[in-house]
Amino acid sequence: MRRARQRADAFWARLVIWQEVHGRSSLPWQNTRDPYRVWLSEIMLQQTQVSTVLGYYERFLARCPTVAELAGAPEDEVMGLWSGLGYYSRARNLHRCAQEVVARFGGKFPHSAELLQTLPGIGRSTAAAIAAFCFGERVSIMDGNVKRVLSRLLAFDADLASGANEKLLWKAADELLPPEGDTEAISRYTQGLMDLGATVCLPRQPQCLICPVEALCEGRRQGDPARLPVKTRKLKRSSQSLWLLLARSGNGDAVWLQKRPATGIWAGLHALPVFDSADALESALPAAVRPAARHLPPFLHVLTHKDLHLHPVEVDADSSEMCGLAGRWVAAQDWPALGLPAPVRRLLEARAARPD
Ligand code: SF4
Repeated sequence: MRRARQRADAFWARLVIWQEVHGRSSLPWQNTRDPYRVWLSEIMLQQTQVSTVLGYYERFLARCPTVAELAGAPEDEVMGLWSGLGYYSRARNLHRCAQEVVARFGGKFPHSAELLQTLPGIGRSTAAAIAAFCFGERVSIMDGNVKRVLSRLLAFDADLASGANEKLLWKAADELLPPEGDTEAISRYTQGLMDLGATVCLPRQPQCLICPVEALCEGRRQGDPARLPVKTRKLKRSSQSLWLLLARSGNGDAVWLQKRPATGIWAGLHALPVFDSADALESALPAAVRPAARHLPPFLHVLTHKDLHLHPVEVDADSSEMCGLAGRWVAAQDWPALGLPAPVRRLLEARAARPD
């Protein structure tokens, strides 16, 4: 027991020193204890790379510098600011969470990971990151980088596809934390774990020779740390074909967009009308424009779990001809600010830029 504590103390202390000298410190969401900024970055960084998040983060903060301003922003505007980041349930939860922070907590984020977890879109690890960075709470995070570092450090080879095994690793992570009350160490240690996973303990080629905790690493001692972590479950991929109706107003200045339902593909976003087959699309077209429908080249959009084969069909129409379809005309200067699925945005941009 004493040995385990000594090892834990050596681990966090080395990581804290290393983070101070070699860790990342210039990202815009670092060097702040403002939970709004930390929360925003944590949500944006889920499944998205730092380089992509940077621009979105700045734009979001410029429009909504406080949680109260985000709570009061129209949903369409929030979705527009998020447009292109993907995983749109994050944006919907972000907006709901801001509204709950205002309604339940008077516009101030609660300080404990336990209460933070009661807010929409904040899971256990995100709650721990906010509580550790902003309030120095002694709680452990468990994102992909941290799972990798700790699995290797401890030679933890149980399958992390199982929730029970993940809980075991989380318990082991709790035992490695700096002592209660040392808020500076807890914040730096948490950042150090993330940084070590992102820059040294890399998925395929861990850089053990420059690692600050090499002497303590059981995975390294056993000889093949890159085999860890073990996670057997593979994502089952599927594919789906969709036909998109790209209706342009007579003078080409506006496109017909529908707001998608709250569930299902592209939930809550604005999109071109979507159909399961070419026949279904054609039968929904007003008779007057059907003969002039143009089938544009299909294209592939790859999601995490699914390949989408998209078949755009373009028509020129006017207001009266579209009135049988749900949706509305949106002018060329207005649709870029809406929350649009990435492939729909790409298609609209490409068609808007084409020479007439
Ligand atoms: Fe990762 Fe190697 Fe460091 Fe162990 S010694 S934590 S495997 S980089």
